[in-house]
Amino acid sequence: MNPETRVVHIPLPAVEDSRPMSVPIYQTSGFIFDDPAVMGDAMGRPDGAFVYGRYTNPTVRALESAVSGLEGGAHGLATGSGMGAINTVLLGLLKPGDHLVAQRSLYGGTAAMINDLVDRFGITVTYVPENEPDALRAAVRTETRLVYLETISNPMTLVADLPGMCAVASELGILSVVDNTFATPLLCRPLEHGADIVLHSTTKYLSGHTDIVGGLAVFADPALYQKVWHFAIELGASAEPFTSWLTLRGLQTLALRMERHCSNTEYLATRLAAHPAVTAVHWAGLPSHPSYELGRKLLSGFGGVFSFDLAGGRAAGERFMGAVRLAHLAPSLGGVTTHVLHPATTSHRSLSVEELSRSGIGEGTVRIAVGIEHPEDLWADVLQALS
Ligand SMILES: *Cc1c(COP(=O)(O)O)cnc(C)c1O
Repeated sequence: MNPETRVVHIPLPAVEDSRPMSVPIYQTSGFIFDDPAVMGDAMGRPDGAFVYGRYTNPTVRALESAVSGLEGGAHGLATGSGMGAINTVLLGLLKPGDHLVAQRSLYGGTAAMINDLVDRFGITVTYVPENEPDALRAAVRTETRLVYLETISNPMTLVADLPGMCAVASELGILSVVDNTFATPLLCRPLEHGADIVLHSTTKYLSGHTDIVGGLAVFADPALYQKVWHFAIELGASAEPFTSWLTLRGLQTLALRMERHCSNTEYLATRLAAHPAVTAVHWAGLPSHPSYELGRKLLSGFGGVFSFDLAGGRAAGERFMGAVRLAHLAPSLGGVTTHVLHPATTSHRSLSVEELSRSGIGEGTVRIAVGIEHPEDLWADVLQALS
């Protein structure tokens, strides 16, 4: 062969007798077949041979299996972002005329997405509190397809009554979909409480190092997975091999990181609750929080995000953001470093003061996504910013 041909046809290394110690990155867009019938078969089902990157990929599949296994599911479906997973599931299951019930306090992107479903896709929605199974029962009608919940909400850390809500859903024949991003399968496994589908933004704790954007859906029922998988390959919100590899690498330290996120958060939340500049601390791990008792039953830790209200209102919130040194003013959460955010001027800026207060967010509310630094260094930073 001529060099022009040889540079493009690179032989694969033979690995039959060697097993890698970590999951290799299969950085390939597709796979080569000997037999068109085998290739055709692989294109029609998710459990056949690997065929094309948008369908799945061995590195991506390793991540899907790992997270699905942790959640106790039958199958996982990795996507290019958390919103990609949410959209894949909602668009894959709902059609015009359908109705869904969602909890009132939702992640901002999800709330915007549901507004879009209502405005442009002829879907209707009823909002209920995350812990009122009777309100869910009253909201369900013949065209209701699913209930949408979040294990721990942002930024007030309300805990959803998963057993109560999922029991009503299953009794009435609708699906329960739960965003488990804030809890991770280390703190709560919604499928064990009756959920049908679990969603993750792997951008957060599962990858854990603020270096990727990704998402994942886990299904209890293989048939439901197959249905959504067929839609997923049409939608094309698929995950990348390298991103999946970084997520797998992060996942290996999830248990160690979650322990530290939770203990650091308890350290900061307890001290802030006693500080004179702070009027309230919102973390389900504090006995004063409305979700404390429920959280003790459902969670094996209360998570690494909390918020608190500053007596000085909006001006104090903005000043605090400018004064932290170790913590960063930054979006997102779940990484090894601590991030602060002022919801009233950033993530929730489109809400009016009334809408803010309905979701429990004040003008002086500060959200902290606590990292894994030494707790005393974090407390020293918060104290100097407060003063
Ligand atoms: C971040 C987040 C999402 C969206 O995930 P992206 O990866 O940013 O698309 C959805 N739900 C929750 C609870 C989140 O924190």
